[in-house]
Amino acid sequence: MKKAVDGLILREMPTGESDKLLTVLTAEGRFLMTAKGARSSRSKVTSLCTIFTYGNFEYYEKNDRRWLSSGSVLENFVGMNSELEGIALASYLSQVAYEISEENIDCSEVLRMTLNALHLIKKRSKPYWQIKAVFEVFSAVQSGYIPDLTGCASCGAEERGEFWLDVMNGGLLCADCLRKRAGNLSLPEFDEEGVRNILLPLDASALACLRYVSEAPIERAFAFSLTSEESRAYFCRAAESYLLHHLERGFDSLDFYHQVKD
Ligand SMILES: [Zn+2]
Repeated sequence: MKKAVDGLILREMPTGESDKLLTVLTAEGRFLMTAKGARSSRSKVTSLCTIFTYGNFEYYEKNDRRWLSSGSVLENFVGMNSELEGIALASYLSQVAYEISEENIDCSEVLRMTLNALHLIKKRSKPYWQIKAVFEVFSAVQSGYIPDLTGCASCGAEERGEFWLDVMNGGLLCADCLRKRAGNLSLPEFDEEGVRNILLPLDASALACLRYVSEAPIERAFAFSLTSEESRAYFCRAAESYLLHHLERGFDSLDFYHQVKD
């Protein structure tokens, strides 16, 4: 029996003589699908079976595997943006989307956010740093890693100008509590349990953005601006470090993004 599903291709890998193994992100979860002959020059599904393509995939199931039979492109994000930085960012976001999605688990929010982000990259309607950081904060929230951003984890203060994001313990620390914790000494790089202390400074604007993005509905998540370059640097660094430390991995596509960005 044939089935059909809308999905976004996160990965494509050559397999067999001229086939492709596709990783497709759908609202119902992430899955693998084989596209017979997709690498052949005579294939009718070449444009459908390309990374960053959002399409309607018709498939059948056989031997516990999914096989593409036909389909149509709904939106093509390939060649979306001639800038290397845009393509590098799209690759990184796709890898993160893969990491935070699972098979047979509702992925509707991850799919919506990934499509929104790719759309913004394609249209270049938001700066790359903003698309990237929003996606990272969203991913941390989706994976259940986002810390309590209401106030200092130690004294509860909510408005105190400068805060520090305690990456490993997942919370905020105000400058007073940080001083108390450290005494007159500088903080040891490792605490008693051998966990590395990673404390990232956040000014009031950067923290306001973190709070906003972590609570905003997907369609409003990009609707803010941050003009100060210093605040932007705090915000971006916190979003990236927090996500990477909690996913416990790095991404080659992220290294590449940083290379082409600078
Ligand atoms: Zn405090």
